[in-house]
Amino acid sequence: MNKAESAADPIALPAGLPSVDRLMQDSRLADLSDRVGRTCVVEAARAVLEEGRQSLLAGGRIDRVRLADSVAAHVAAATVSSIRPVLNLTGTVIHTNLGRASLPEVAVEAIAQVARQPVDLEFDLAAGKRGSRDSHLESQIVSLTGAEAATAVNNNAAAVMLVLNTLANRRAVPVSRGELVEIGGSFRLPDIMRRAGARLVEVGATNRTHLKDFDEAMAARPALVLKAHTSNYAVIGFTGSVPERELAALCRRHAVPFCVDLGSGTLVDLERFGLPHEPTVQEALTSGADLVTFSGDKLLGGPQAGIVAGRADLVARIRKNPMHRAFRLDKLRVAALEATLALYRQPEKLTETVPTLRWLARPLSEIRAVADDVAAGLDRAAPSIWRVAVADCFSQIGSGALPAEALPSVAVRLTPQAGRKAAGRALGDTAAAFRALPVPVIGRVGEGAFWLDMRCLETPELLLDQIDSFAWPAPT
Ligand SMILES: *Cc1c(COP(=O)(O)O)cnc(C)c1O
Repeated sequence: MNKAESAADPIALPAGLPSVDRLMQDSRLADLSDRVGRTCVVEAARAVLEEGRQSLLAGGRIDRVRLADSVAAHVAAATVSSIRPVLNLTGTVIHTNLGRASLPEVAVEAIAQVARQPVDLEFDLAAGKRGSRDSHLESQIVSLTGAEAATAVNNNAAAVMLVLNTLANRRAVPVSRGELVEIGGSFRLPDIMRRAGARLVEVGATNRTHLKDFDEAMAARPALVLKAHTSNYAVIGFTGSVPERELAALCRRHAVPFCVDLGSGTLVDLERFGLPHEPTVQEALTSGADLVTFSGDKLLGGPQAGIVAGRADLVARIRKNPMHRAFRLDKLRVAALEATLALYRQPEKLTETVPTLRWLARPLSEIRAVADDVAAGLDRAAPSIWRVAVADCFSQIGSGALPAEALPSVAVRLTPQAGRKAAGRALGDTAAAFRALPVPVIGRVGEGAFWLDMRCLETPELLLDQIDSFAWPAPT
């Protein structure tokens, strides 16, 4: 900078830009380098100067005192993690796109504990030699479900794949036409079966399947019979399916393993919490299933995992499949799953200890109290153009459980006081503004309003504390 220039003068030509070294002498950038390392600050300074050069060539002006700010902003943007906590106010409790289950506190602690150090993941401490990963989980699953044996893998899709590939490679597998489910695009039972090497034999009709249909399918000498829990839809009207008990008996007569993919399998009867019934793993096994597969991060409320529980000889064969190695759990999830399963030994405490179950069983009065506080806070902050109201709504369990049953819940509803057409855009803008908050808030647009379902919001402060930084869109 020569004498004629002052720090307040904007830079007009590329030659007026400082060098990287010169820019780095700014005291703020020196402090920043101490904190985050010089390399990434220099990288950001280069990027800022290059952007500056482009903007000057395009005829722009640059405020020289702002250059260091731009560098700091660049560094901040580059160091913020891409995976961030959000508030799930969509009303779908087990939301796959939002990471499904929020883990029980003991599971979080278990992860932290094993993350930092070596652990006896696959090491038998008594014998001083190689042990089994499943040893940390199997006895708990066995005692909770009554299965003879169990193994846990990456997710339930992997569990199903393993069962099919181990027991039914190049062989027939009858499945009811009413159960050829697709769960969120990438899990389609017919596709998984093909990839696992199994040959699908479709049985019965979409709405009705009878025992004699399965009896006829036995002529194909199937490797196993698969029953999939039709978890994300309901076939209603003139329907019929074969009860598990009868299908199991038929399979036993033909010495064919009967496998049940429960998906969102639960270990406790949800009716105990005032929720609609969802088939439990125990029920499927008692009805005669030889193997049951279910997810760790759906109703179980633990980390992502897929569990195969059932006959010891079949589980032993599954463990020997090389794919089992490809689908195995790491130490973090073994620890989290073990800690989650341990909570099921105290079923009366589950609605306190397991967040998924706590939210599903949350009393309406408690949800309403949070809604009242949030609505009052938003109403104070909102420009008069917005109407804020507490409104009844329905939550969903999500991830395939109980498709036809909705859970009564309470929402805060935002409606712009403008024409309907304009409102549509304003609602989209509102949803986007909530997603742009420091802790993004994910709601739902529908019926001419923006809805924030309060079922999963533990306290009103989590939302209200950041509402001052909310940029209210103006309905036009
Ligand atoms: C969810 C589900 C799956 C897939 O489980 P992931 O844990 O998501 O891999 C498979 N089958 C059924 C019936 C399901 O509900």
